[in-house]
Amino acid sequence: MKKQQTQPTPETLDRIKSVVGPQGWSLDPNELADHLVEWRQQWHGQTSLLVKPATSEEVAAIVRICAETATPIVPQGGNTGLVGGQIPFHNEILLCFNRLNKILSVDTVNNTISVQAGCVLAAVQDAAEKVDRLFPLSLASEGSAQIGGVLSTNAGGNAVLRYGTARNLVLGLEVVTAQGKIWDGLKGLRKDNTGYDLKQIFIGAEGTLGIITAAVCKLLPKPRDVVTALVALRDVAAALEFLTLSQTACGDLVSAVELIPRIGIEFVIRHVPDARQPFSPLNEWNVLIEFSTAQYPGTLRPTVETLLERALERGFVLDGVIAESGPQAAQLWLLRERLSEVQRYEGGSLKHDISVPVSQIATFLDQATRAVTAAIPGVRPVPFGHIGDGNIHFNLSQPTDMDTEAFLNRREEIARLVYDIVVSLGGSISAEHGVGVAKRDEIRRYKSAVELSVMKSLKHALDPQGILNPGKVV
Ligand SMILES: Cc1cc2nc3c(=O)[nH]c(=O)nc-3n(C[C@H](O)[C@H](O)[C@H](O)COP(=O)(O)OP(=O)(O)OC[C@H]3O[C@@H](n4cnc5c(N)ncnc54)[C@H](O)[C@@H]3O)c2cc1C
Repeated sequence: MKKQQTQPTPETLDRIKSVVGPQGWSLDPNELADHLVEWRQQWHGQTSLLVKPATSEEVAAIVRICAETATPIVPQGGNTGLVGGQIPFHNEILLCFNRLNKILSVDTVNNTISVQAGCVLAAVQDAAEKVDRLFPLSLASEGSAQIGGVLSTNAGGNAVLRYGTARNLVLGLEVVTAQGKIWDGLKGLRKDNTGYDLKQIFIGAEGTLGIITAAVCKLLPKPRDVVTALVALRDVAAALEFLTLSQTACGDLVSAVELIPRIGIEFVIRHVPDARQPFSPLNEWNVLIEFSTAQYPGTLRPTVETLLERALERGFVLDGVIAESGPQAAQLWLLRERLSEVQRYEGGSLKHDISVPVSQIATFLDQATRAVTAAIPGVRPVPFGHIGDGNIHFNLSQPTDMDTEAFLNRREEIARLVYDIVVSLGGSISAEHGVGVAKRDEIRRYKSAVELSVMKSLKHALDPQGILNPGKVV
């Protein structure tokens, strides 16, 4: 039976506080402030209690009290999510994982790392590096995003082309269910066909089906040789030809391919003091491409040079620079990594994290750019991102002479224009950021009745009282 969800009573709050002890909760407005607004400052929340459990058992005990009292609870990792999933909008209990941040074990024979949910992604990458391995998940937010958050959003990032999204990098999970029970699925197995693959249900569920408390992740061979290049292209179709040529010539040595438009480079150069113009004049369309191999340095750079020469001869590459050193490669990556952030200094922006089949990217960009410029003359499209995965961040900066609020008020209308084109091309309205609250209502329009009904059945089966992250996703 679904109990009526309630605001927690003082007695419920006291019971939760006594589970975690004085170090494990807070109502200090200064501490709460960072948890109640997200990165883009678009969503603000409020909470009846911030709880900071130190063990999985404490998480389970908290959830048992919530289940017993029908008290809603919102899990929050590094608070870098971009769809509002981690924000408590209705005074829910806010569960954070900062004290659950241990690397539990590293196994270089099984090539796995076991970590608690609150481990920051960069710390997991560092731990892998220390044993000469790679944990390939890489995002601009990796200094704050936590493993629990990146798995709950099935994060993508820069290396999906080669290594897949977060869900491809996990072998086992420990999860606290909505009833407050611990499912210990912390197995490091690459083969296990004993029924449903439960971990995959919780990955990408944005905290609505269970609470991830720990994970066993895959480790991969650490690249010893990395070549990074920024390449100017004739147009978007040429970027796709270049991608195909690179993959034909270098196979899975291509580890990242990021589309960057001229306006994006201009924004970064304007607003980031350390950023440098890669070549002059700037070109309309550019691709940042990275090749890497676990082989010792030597053969990769000549292969890439030959590839670029062939692409220049064929006329779809116009110019290019290959990084001569690690710091130079970092300079090139800066142009991509800071792109999202610098848009805020250019006024209001409307952002659409979408995917289409790679072969449809040029068509999508053409149709979507026409549609939005017809709707808002002077709008400045800044489409960039993981072109090798068909994932474009179709971001729009406001016209320079338009009132910001008037521009932002067009959000729904513009999203409808963009998403209709995406779906007509067989794409998805959320490629890697998830649904949260931002796209909860929109998925109803774009997913089939059957798909929505299966999603709701799953939610009802696992969380019949609807206490886990209510109002998100479904
Ligand atoms: C500058 C910047 C760059 C980014 N780049 C990328 C990118 O390239 N690719 C990409 O995919 N994303 C990107 N993101 C989005 C964001 O970093 C990812 O969504 C990230 O995975 C969120 O991790 P987090 O720990 O901050 O989670 P949070 O934001 O805290 O939470 C995200 C969701 O997961 C749930 N959750 C958190 N922890 C748990 C847990 N332990 N158990 C169950 N549910 C939980 C929350 O309730 C929420 O629904 C970027 C964000 C920023 C700010």
